[in-house]
Amino acid sequence: MADMKTQARAVVIGGGVVGVSTLYHLARKGWSDSVLIERKELTSGSTWHAAGLLPLFNMSYSVGQIHKYSVRFYKELGEETGMNVGFSNVSNIRLARTKDRWDEYMYYAGVAETLGIPLNILTPEQLKDIWPLCETDGILGAIQHPEDGYIQPADLTQALAKGARDHGATIYRHTTVTAIEQMPDGLWLVKTDKGDITAEHVISCTGNFARKTGAMVGLNVPVIPVEHQYIVTEPHPAILARKAKGLPEMGVLRESDSSWYMREENGGLLLGPYEHGAPCCYMDAPSDDSEYELFDGDLDRLMPHIETAMVRVPAFGEVGVKKIYNGAIAYTPDGSPIIGPAPGLKNFWLNEGHSFGVTAAGGAGWQLAEWIIDGEPTIDMMGVDPRRFGPYATEGYLKAKNEEAYANVFTMHYPDEERAAARPLKTTPCYGRMKALGAVFGSVYGWERPNWFAPPGYEVPAGELGLGADVLTNHNHAPPLEDGRIVERWSFRRSNYFEHVGNEIRNVHERAGLMDMSAFAKMEVSGPGARAWLHSILANSLPKKRGRIALCHLLTKAGGVKSEFTVYEWGPGRFYLVSAGAYEAHDHDVLMKLAPTDGSVQLSPITQTYGVLVLAGPRSRDILTKLTRTSLENKDFPWLSGKQISVGTTTAHALRVNFVGELGWELHHPIEQQNALFDQVMEAGAEFGLTPFGIRAMTAMAVEKSYRLIPRELSIEYTAWESALDRFVKLDKGEFIGRDALVAAKAKGPNWSFVTLEVHGVSDADARGNEAIYTPNGDLVGRATHGAFGFRTGKSLALAMVKPGYSAEGTELDIRILGKIHKAVVVGESPFDPENAALRA
Ligand SMILES: Cc1cc2nc3c(=O)[nH]c(=O)nc-3n(C[C@H](O)[C@H](O)[C@H](O)COP(=O)(O)OP(=O)(O)OC[C@H]3O[C@@H](n4cnc5c(N)ncnc54)[C@H](O)[C@@H]3O)c2cc1C
Repeated sequence: MADMKTQARAVVIGGGVVGVSTLYHLARKGWSDSVLIERKELTSGSTWHAAGLLPLFNMSYSVGQIHKYSVRFYKELGEETGMNVGFSNVSNIRLARTKDRWDEYMYYAGVAETLGIPLNILTPEQLKDIWPLCETDGILGAIQHPEDGYIQPADLTQALAKGARDHGATIYRHTTVTAIEQMPDGLWLVKTDKGDITAEHVISCTGNFARKTGAMVGLNVPVIPVEHQYIVTEPHPAILARKAKGLPEMGVLRESDSSWYMREENGGLLLGPYEHGAPCCYMDAPSDDSEYELFDGDLDRLMPHIETAMVRVPAFGEVGVKKIYNGAIAYTPDGSPIIGPAPGLKNFWLNEGHSFGVTAAGGAGWQLAEWIIDGEPTIDMMGVDPRRFGPYATEGYLKAKNEEAYANVFTMHYPDEERAAARPLKTTPCYGRMKALGAVFGSVYGWERPNWFAPPGYEVPAGELGLGADVLTNHNHAPPLEDGRIVERWSFRRSNYFEHVGNEIRNVHERAGLMDMSAFAKMEVSGPGARAWLHSILANSLPKKRGRIALCHLLTKAGGVKSEFTVYEWGPGRFYLVSAGAYEAHDHDVLMKLAPTDGSVQLSPITQTYGVLVLAGPRSRDILTKLTRTSLENKDFPWLSGKQISVGTTTAHALRVNFVGELGWELHHPIEQQNALFDQVMEAGAEFGLTPFGIRAMTAMAVEKSYRLIPRELSIEYTAWESALDRFVKLDKGEFIGRDALVAAKAKGPNWSFVTLEVHGVSDADARGNEAIYTPNGDLVGRATHGAFGFRTGKSLALAMVKPGYSAEGTELDIRILGKIHKAVVVGESPFDPENAALRA
């Protein structure tokens, strides 16, 4: 081997399919002086033994786009490199045996259609034509992705390697990265057993070694692999006969309701189940000499799936098992990979945690190269951003969550599903009080938050639980409470909690409600340069007067929305920034990386220091007045202002803002005083009918106000103009990030327009986001980004991004919800109280 280079623009660590794709895309985009380092042979980690399936199916908008790119790119890569990547474009078929599964597919059809992924809907008879060895008893129907199939992972990786080398990149095999250090000038020193390299950027693509690599730079990478098995059978005469006749391969078959996939393999069949009880592995990373490693097969764990496979495809049981592959598959707590910047480190990137890495490698490498070279990705990556997890995701948490994510690959991805493992983890002080009041909790960023409140003694009738005894993925409800009651059934449609959420909303609207929003991400920005710095990065003007509150967006250079902050100057030169709880690590990392390093600005993350109780509704002034001497009258305490006030025996920064569109105050208080505050507010509110309310009520009320959210209507894919943020963008204030792009975009005109739609004829399924929107002649012109039933307006509503020209009020469109077309009419922004009279009351 020639001497190793001592300098490179970027060093990619790991020569699996993901690392090599990253190198390829960096080199293709012009960074030919990039280097890849692999400790053994390329593909010798998880890549070589992958089943090679390329499932386009994914409910995530980010992952869906990544998979779509990969499948199309792999088809071109063979031509570009002259190498055969072994792409068998046999299609991918998913069976449905339950009504809920069908709803899931019909919901997914919207994701696919709006992403431009072709999808066929098959009857059982059409399925039988394509897959004659499949019994169709009990099958309601199927969906088919005609564009996908499977690929030879090792051949794909070698083609990517050739492509990368053709573009000038270098690959070092049998070279191990042993340490990584950031030098004072910001460059990275990558130490290997064959010499050291300095680089501007380092990209970790180390598969099952992810945590070990992360530890080299002090990162807690939320990846631990899980064992995954597939079985390959001996050839079957019926398949050999089909081949002899020149009949096409039967396609990849997925029996989602029994949690397995199957495809032809060398005249036999390959069966891959996702079992319950598959354990995490490589807790301390594979050993130093590990390569091409497999574990012993565990047939017992596979048996329930094998039995259902033999019923569905009897041929599978008619031939012997040739080999069981049991290998490590990297997992994260939510099953999606982590692709993007490492929190807290400049120019260190992660492309890890891939459980469908062969499928995702192309798109992941493509977007990461955009991000590294241009500073931003071009598609919304929030669903895969490494910073969607925080420091709470430690080893024990990961073990519980990753095993859960694996076991749930094929369970129904209900929009209201809340998974149970590793909970409760982070609780606010009033958790117990909320629980006693009937709170049904959801989890965000590790925090428990009340989603809604079940009445005393309430339970879902037993007949509504479970999907049928003969399906393995039979799970359609939250786990029982301590007293054994099950209070929530999940659904794609309005479910049992619908009317209770409605009651919460009515109470907030007519009287008052109290909600725990302590999970909000909070940051204090202070120091002599704080105002000027915030002014220079945020699109809105900072409030000039202390005590005023502004909603401020941090944009990308292209003018899309990256983060949203409520900004309030709570002390002279001290700014309090509040953003979504789910994005704490993201938002704080983004701020820290932008902050000046000359000491003029200090950033103090204070999420854990302050709790937030939201008091909202027309009686909230009456309630709060009982607890404070501060005047709450409009003239003294107008909408969009804040003050530190004494409340009962506690103190709080009361911010006159909320996300529900009613009179109210958010009480940001020292978290250790939360229960005192909670008890006093509840007691003061008793005579006014104060009751608690949850996130589901808040979300439905926010839709009625047309409030935009990241990553729905606000995303890096839409400019601030397209998301109709005009009133929060001040072009005349001077430079800020994204300003130039917004000026140019204004001249050019938008590609999208944000609209609010009233959906007609809805009886039991409101839009949720991702539904396709058409003209009355059936032309696709947009996608819903959110939706809910508005209990105050009595209307089923959707928020959507549509092509310009379809955004005028009164425009009649169609929306497809769970397969059914409904009329959807563009209405004015904020169908509830467009004048904000309640907020200003
Ligand atoms: C049984 C099974 C079936 C599967 N089937 C499919 C499928 O059908 N479709 C699909 O999309 N996915 C499938 N997968 C998942 C797929 O295998 C992985 O997602 C994918 O291979 C991950 O690729 P990677 O490049 O991230 O990791 P790897 O292939 O594991 O590559 C990581 C590389 O990093 C190297 N490395 C680590 N540390 C260092 C260091 N310090 N210095 C130098 N090099 C280092 C390792 O040697 C390794 O080669 C399957 C997995 C299993 C177990």
